[in-house]
Amino acid sequence: MKKIVVANWMMNPTTPREAKALAQKTKVLASKLKQSHIIVCPPAVFISLLKSTPRLSLGAQDVSLEAGEGAFTGELSAAMLAYSGAEFTLIGHSERRAKGETNEMVNKKVKLALAARLKTIICLGEDKRDEHGHYLEPLRQQVKKALTGLIKPDLKRVIIAYEPVWAVGRAAKSADTPADFLHHALFISKTLSDLFDKKLAMQVPIIYGGSVDSKNAEGFLKAGQADGLLVGRASLNPDELKKILYVAEN
Ligand code: PEP
Repeated sequence: MKKIVVANWMMNPTTPREAKALAQKTKVLASKLKQSHIIVCPPAVFISLLKSTPRLSLGAQDVSLEAGEGAFTGELSAAMLAYSGAEFTLIGHSERRAKGETNEMVNKKVKLALAARLKTIICLGEDKRDEHGHYLEPLRQQVKKALTGLIKPDLKRVIIAYEPVWAVGRAAKSADTPADFLHHALFISKTLSDLFDKKLAMQVPIIYGGSVDSKNAEGFLKAGQADGLLVGRASLNPDELKKILYVAEN
């Protein structure tokens, strides 16, 4: 399986010109990829300005809870995002959950995205960790609820991004450790296998996100056996991204 590197640009950059320049640099890096694939998730307004390539796909960062068309001011439907050029979408990112997105909303968005033929990158992970492992049951619930009502073929269009919330973003003190990631990835796989079947569960990529940089990427991909990485801040820096992609390639 090719390694997946998701570049979440969050609410960056400000201008179309900067977005095109960053995309161009990313595309040059992507053109050399053989063992990995990059999914760039820019702000939605830039998706239609950018072009996908065989090694670089575009993704949205969220989809509306509303389907179809209608009086939903400010919303962007999954279908609109797909028609704008997105092949993937993030769903349930911790920054969306922090704004009140529940597991039920995540589930509805996953279904709407799949119906619009978008592949989904479902983000989940605990807010806090306690030494007694009490966060494991909520994690199981996040997986279960996100996938409620999906049928086996849907699973082929799902990527799970394990992103412990405490490790994501500028406020994070540190990334998770590769050993911890592996433990959680196995737990998520087991949950998927209980919900669907083992063979299918093994095919769902589980990637790590949370303060990934050029120094810790190798640990997650090798010792942590991650199928890929979800990269926020470091994806905005082409030099950092280059090093991360180098690790993913090798
Ligand atoms: C993210 O935005 O999903 C993320 C993991 O951000 P960062 O890499 O900056 O922690």
